Amino acid sequence: MSTLEIRDLHVTVDTEQGAKEILKGVDLSISSGATHAIMGPNGSGKSTLAYSIAGHPKYTVTQGTVTLDGEDVLSMTVDERARAGLFLAMQYPVEVPGVTVSNFLRTAKTAVSGEAPKLRTWVKDVKGAMDNLRMDSSFAERNVNEGFSGGEKKRHEILQMELLQPKIAILDETDSGLDVDALRIVSEGVNRAKAGSDIGVLLITHYTRILRYIKPDHVHVFVDGRVAEEGGPELAERLENEGYDRYVAAAKA
Ligand code: ADP
Ligand code: MG
Ligand code: MG
Repeated sequence: MSTLEIRDLHVTVDTEQGAKEILKGVDLSISSGATHAIMGPNGSGKSTLAYSIAGHPKYTVTQGTVTLDGEDVLSMTVDERARAGLFLAMQYPVEVPGVTVSNFLRTAKTAVSGEAPKLRTWVKDVKGAMDNLRMDSSFAERNVNEGFSGGEKKRHEILQMELLQPKIAILDETDSGLDVDALRIVSEGVNRAKAGSDIGVLLITHYTRILRYIKPDHVHVFVDGRVAEEGGPELAERLENEGYDRYVAAAKA
């Protein structure tokens, strides 16, 4: 049982006009086996939250804490965060010239688990995960993110998550740019990873449609750098019907 705890998190980003506060006191805790959805309008700071937990250098934590099972995440390097069991899909968004998906996955698995995976089981695991995600085996020999389509990037993220078996996974806009078939395949991957290893999932999304495939236990409405409301799955249905206007107006008042 693991818990990621975010307490009163304030984060600024460096802009040309100086530091701008984006997160204004976020409280959230995510435990093994639970799926949390963060939903909110564009520009509300959802990605900033994900990047801050990932340790992106552009974002400065000015107040508050993030801990994983009591360990201070904010003082860890990006690699240490991964080894501690955090999976952040946006951690490696860039092209990695000359590194194939296959080598990349093996290196990441070795880094996270502290030893190289046994070749025979590893090859089988990778093939199984790729088959599940309906990925052609030739994908493993392509260079990471080089010319990947939106859908291929998302599948590659979920492939990493399935193979790395983190304690807590943070998926930012996993649904963006996916057609309905790809959305279903990616969602099934998340659900398999959840069923297989009791992982806690933080699903960040602007749209409710992915929540038809990945059922959240908790829904948090994110507005203007804060959690404006929390509830169960019924809250997502209400957002689908009513949108965010009410929350945005309340945050401005
Ligand atoms: P969301 O993911 O909810 O759409 P973001 O976290 O991407 O929101 O952005 C929140 C706010 O912070 C926006 O106003 C955005 O312009 C600003 N912001 C985020 N990252 C940067 C950055 N690197 N430089 C300047 N402004 C940023
Ligand atoms: Mg505060
Ligand atoms: Mg975003």
